[in-house]
Amino acid sequence: MKIMKFGGTSVGRPERMQHIAAMVTKETEPVIVVLSALSGTTNALVEIGELIAKGDRQGAKKAIDKLEAHYQTFISDLLKKKKTLDTAKAIVAEHFEFLNIILKISFSEALSKDILAQGELLSTKLFCVYLEEKGIEHQLLPALEFMSIDNNDEPQIGSIKVKLTQLLKQYKSKKLFVTQGYICRNARGEVDNLKRGGSDYSASLIAAAINASVCEIWTDIDGMHNNDPRIVKKTVPVEQLSFEEAAELAYFGAKILHPASIWPAQQYNVPVKLLNTMQPEAKGTTITEKAGSDGVKAVAAKDNIIAIRIKSSRMLLAYGFLRKVFEVFEKYRTPIDMVTTSEVAVSITIDNDSNLKKILKELEPFGSVEVDKNQTIISVVGNQIAQTEDMVKKLFGSIMNIPVRMVSYGGSPHNISLLVPAEFKTQILQQLNKGMFGL
Ligand code: ADP
Ligand code: ASP
Ligand code: MG
Repeated sequence: MKIMKFGGTSVGRPERMQHIAAMVTKETEPVIVVLSALSGTTNALVEIGELIAKGDRQGAKKAIDKLEAHYQTFISDLLKKKKTLDTAKAIVAEHFEFLNIILKISFSEALSKDILAQGELLSTKLFCVYLEEKGIEHQLLPALEFMSIDNNDEPQIGSIKVKLTQLLKQYKSKKLFVTQGYICRNARGEVDNLKRGGSDYSASLIAAAINASVCEIWTDIDGMHNNDPRIVKKTVPVEQLSFEEAAELAYFGAKILHPASIWPAQQYNVPVKLLNTMQPEAKGTTITEKAGSDGVKAVAAKDNIIAIRIKSSRMLLAYGFLRKVFEVFEKYRTPIDMVTTSEVAVSITIDNDSNLKKILKELEPFGSVEVDKNQTIISVVGNQIAQTEDMVKKLFGSIMNIPVRMVSYGGSPHNISLLVPAEFKTQILQQLNKGMFGL
């Protein structure tokens, strides 16, 4: 069985949805199709949630109506037969009625997650109606019945495996399944999600849970490129990446993959392919245990980073100092990305500022604390790059004019990370493109 995940742009227009229906029915192997919401929908739902939270019900109502109108047009272009169009109309009406009911009740965090879930619920149901119109046998698998996260928001792979296997057993004769990406249930049984871009994570978790032959991530670009195509003009696709390399790139900002989406596939050794829905014949990127080749493969940038420097004369010769510092971040459940140390100071970066004030207060007794906001982590990723002397020379040679705040080298053989002020991001990515890739 294989997994085919389609992102927002791949389902965002009626003709695209029709195109992917044709693609998935060509498969000889049974398929689980994982769908995102139509492009733009989750952003609209985030906005609706924020307007309701602010108490701007009129604004929220306007946004809901606008989104509903978009879906009305979408289904009338998608479907040709009256019967299926009526079914789709009823589905759209049901989900927008739900949003309109939410408008009337008092806002809560749990409710905002319910709002966000509507996008994937709609896209999968409408896709199934289209399959029905075309007479294509299929089965919708509700993600809320098997996808779950624990108290720490971590997916429960064991339980996902058991529930999904049981669910699939009920439909032994079926070969085409459709499910929602992104959405799940949390430890309290409420509707929740795997964070923005989470459909990739869903696909990888499902692939791991059923030991799929491959996890295909179909998107709007022909694979992982060597640099961020939104920022740098000339970029090229990377044919092969190891799980480690792909995980580093995803974690350090390559938007094509959700930051955590590689580990489930890696743990269960399921190959991941990044493919272009608009250009299915393109090779794309294959991610397996093997790196393919040594040397630098790609660079990525992670935004909104905060650097914290703790300077303390007491750090001198003291053991246990770093533990105490790290415990503060652990207490506030704030992951640390980069760490560099000197004899009297330690610098740390985080990307989650929700508890920054409390963290800084608790760090104060350790010494002087400096904070630099608006930083960017630039990660250079490739097989064994940290061991290649030439690579290091090229890397630093090409960015000599850029003020680098931190360097993380040797933490992993696949990654060298640099921290720079955000205003240098475009420049450094462009210079690296020239210096490291000759592009
Ligand atoms: P989907 O909706 O299919 O999940 P995303 O927008 O989440 O698609 O991811 C695909 C986008 O990621 C591309 O259109 C591209 O702009 C962006 N991107 C950023 N960095 C990279 C990279 N290194 N390689 C490929 N795409 C990248
Ligand atoms: N629809 C969700 C989002 O926009 C999940 C995803 O697209 O992967 O973040
Ligand atoms: Mg995405």
